[in-house]
Formats: sequence, C-alpha cells, structure tokens
Amino acid sequence: MHSHENDPMGIVGACPTCKTAYIYQNVRILRKAKEQTLFHLTCDKCKHSMLFSVLRQKEGVMCSGLMTDCSFEDAKLFHGKEIVSIGDVMEAHEALDIAWSQELFSK
Ligand SMILES: [Zn+2]
Repeated sequence: MHSHENDPMGIVGACPTCKTAYIYQNVRILRKAKEQTLFHLTCDKCKHSMLFSVLRQKEGVMCSGLMTDCSFEDAKLFHGKEIVSIGDVMEAHEALDIAWSQELFSK
C-alpha cells in the first residue's frame, strides 16, 4: 500500500474497518446540492460502507464521514432520488479535489 499525496481521495482515506484505501470506482454520489455533496463509498475488500459528505461554506470546505450499514441502494431510499450515474463520479472527483486543495492551503 503506497500513499498518493496528491490524491483527493486522501481526504476520505482508508476503510476504518480493514484499512484498505478506498478506490474511486466504489465512490458514488448519493446526493448533490449547491453546498453539499454526499458520497457513498464501499470498501473493496470488506464491503463495509461509508457515507461521506463534503460541505461547502463561506469559511471553507468541511468533510465528514460516517460508517453505515446501508448499501448504496438502501441509502438512496433515505436520501432521495437524485441518483447519478458513473459519469458524475468525475464531478465527485472534482469536489474532492476542491476539498483537498482547500485542506492543504488552509494550514
Ligand atoms: Zn474495509
């Protein structure tokens, strides 16, 4: 396991359960709004899921993660219908990029 210093996924990091780094392919956007993007991540190894939110505010970007038992399908039921396809995952990357750079430069 090697670390990617410039990888925006560094914000999300690794699975809290098995320490396996999350991979982009398992990131899905659950909900996208102006200020907040909610991602659903599934660990490739142990299949534990996590909800991850990037919140944009005047003060900066706040990131928070939460372990969940919900599959992406379950989570959809809770979080509405704005489900996007794999094409929008690129936007998720951009959102994470923004969050990542703000994280870097705020120090
Ligand atoms: Zn895991």
